[in-house]
Amino acid sequence: MHSKKYFIANWKMNGLKGDLNQISIIDNFLKKKNKLSALNCIFCIPYTILGLALINLKLKKVKIGAQDVSNEAFDFGPSTGQISSKMLKDLNCKFTILGHSEKRFNGDTEHQISQKIGMAVKNNIKVILCVGENLKDYKKKKSFYKVKKQLQLSLKKNKKYLKNIIFAYEPIWSIGTGIIPENSYLNNFFLKIKKYLKNEFKIKATVIYGGSVSPKNINELKNIDLCDGFLIGGASLKHKNFIDIIKKYYN
Ligand code: PEP
Repeated sequence: MHSKKYFIANWKMNGLKGDLNQISIIDNFLKKKNKLSALNCIFCIPYTILGLALINLKLKKVKIGAQDVSNEAFDFGPSTGQISSKMLKDLNCKFTILGHSEKRFNGDTEHQISQKIGMAVKNNIKVILCVGENLKDYKKKKSFYKVKKQLQLSLKKNKKYLKNIIFAYEPIWSIGTGIIPENSYLNNFFLKIKKYLKNEFKIKATVIYGGSVSPKNINELKNIDLCDGFLIGGASLKHKNFIDIIKKYYN
């Protein structure tokens, strides 16, 4: 359980300049805890503060990532409101979330997600690719079918980039609801995803869990054997909650 784990924060549409000190506090905490050196900590924050964080914060342990990139096949040009992977590379940004259910809900298609993966990896940016089913599909026992479809469609044209992807299984019905799946369900689900990625794409995939992870449920979630870490939304906004999750995980 204590091999290199990912603790990835998704701030979504939250965070002002003044909130960046939350990240500095977490960086200081990790610097002091040598035994946590094997932990990967990435904060995916809004574009408005991402540049400031990368230029000003001088972080030692925490990495900074984005929450999306443009799907356009070009680096600069007529695409008002979009941010290209090249622009993020210019800031030395090395990670981005892609395919989050909230982006999918707002219109991101599998095809666009696939294009985004290509553009990100070409610019040396590792992708945290979110997949997950909604409540209706979960109830109909179609979760794995849905996730497999998402993986198939976003990966088929990105086979040479697979090593640059961290997979995040995020059941949509768990995001922001406080409800998490049963451990037995998650153990089985992680096994299925990893097997599928191994058989179909020949990779030993890194797969993390996201959905209502908090200091209250981390003791339960840390028993999912095949889980390589967590994508944390609400509980990443305050340093205390985020640090509590890490402390409890390693206790
Ligand atoms: C997320 O949206 O990626 C997420 C995991 O959110 P929360 O932890 O708030 O459920």
